[in-house]
Amino acid sequence: MASPTERKDFESTKKLRDVMGKYFAELGRGPAEGKKTAWCTSVGPAELLRALGFQVYFPENHGAMLGASRMATDLIPLANARGFSPDICSYLTSDIGSYLKGQTPLQKMKLDGPPKPDVLVYNTNQCRDVKDWFQFYAREFGVPCLGIHTPRAIGEVDDALVHYVAQQIEALVEPLEKIAGARLDRSRLEETVALSRQCTLLWKSVLETAANVPSPLTFFDGTIQMGPAVVLRGAPDAVDYYQTLLAELNDRVAQGIAAVPGERFRIYWEGMPIWGKLKDLSTQMLSLGVCVVASTYCNSWIFEALDPADPFRSMARAYSSIFICRSEDYKEQYIADMAARFRVDGILYHDAKTCPNNSNNRYEMPQRLQARLGKPYLVVHGDLNDLRLYSEEQTRTNLEAFAEQLAQG
Ligand code: SF4
Repeated sequence: MASPTERKDFESTKKLRDVMGKYFAELGRGPAEGKKTAWCTSVGPAELLRALGFQVYFPENHGAMLGASRMATDLIPLANARGFSPDICSYLTSDIGSYLKGQTPLQKMKLDGPPKPDVLVYNTNQCRDVKDWFQFYAREFGVPCLGIHTPRAIGEVDDALVHYVAQQIEALVEPLEKIAGARLDRSRLEETVALSRQCTLLWKSVLETAANVPSPLTFFDGTIQMGPAVVLRGAPDAVDYYQTLLAELNDRVAQGIAAVPGERFRIYWEGMPIWGKLKDLSTQMLSLGVCVVASTYCNSWIFEALDPADPFRSMARAYSSIFICRSEDYKEQYIADMAARFRVDGILYHDAKTCPNNSNNRYEMPQRLQARLGKPYLVVHGDLNDLRLYSEEQTRTNLEAFAEQLAQG
């Protein structure tokens, strides 16, 4: 029998490894098979790139791998020495450090490194750093860097905004066709958008199983399970995987299997993961009976607006609706809604030092939401990848104190 601090692994995880392994193996083989490679930001126009026949590689996913494998902290100084400040995105600095040093977790998967790009395509909906990051590689490899410039702090995603962004996506078609050496097949684009939408809806259903009490899933599971939603949206493998995972989670709900046995408290994680500390944090939360049931981060790969019947406008709407590019008022309402839907007892804000774009504790949000919801909050100071900015001991103590506060109701 599992002890209160032990938990049962998901059976689907083996399939997850296979799906992700296949994705990376194909990326590695692609160039020899004559496939062109596009690098894409996490909420860039992946559907368009796939429909044009590119294999799509996501440097942010590589950044997360560098963080999770704890290689990042040693690699970041190389990018700093090259001229990229220690204060900017540590995905960027660890990824560029990895490139400069020729060291990557992909080598464990028998790849020499990331596949060389034929084109880099960004969307500034999340931050400016992605553009600077991609422009570095465009200079290094001597390949084009194209992009979409999305406004930030968006209130309502209205028709004018959708038109503005959709036009930019459509304008990418011609230069991308030249690089791909192929014309865009409209029906293939519609099919890719349809697959992406299916993936999104399944991923949403996966995350929503955590609304059950006890929750069968934690945020820490989500950060692992989100892999296919990040790198394979628009591909059938992601749809197939989430059907399997969702069935397993529904089964767990039916059997009352808790992700945190003896779940005492349910909290919300706002902000970036601390990739190099996922296991430690998950273990401490488990021992405190705290289940992180929902997060803004994992939900950022839900693109419900996608519509195969109207691919360009719906991509524009979906990419511009993500939390990170929305107004403070929208964000506050979003977190309040999530707190109610997932029945959370408190909110944890991660202040990621090198990602002000995805740290939402800096403009009085915690205080406003505490007043509004009557739920306690905790701010954890750290970073997504740079562990020099994170104090293990202080966080551990603060989490213990937070659990005590939650116990007092
Ligand atoms: S949103 Fe933050 S973590 Fe993501 S690329 Fe931009 S600065 Fe880096």
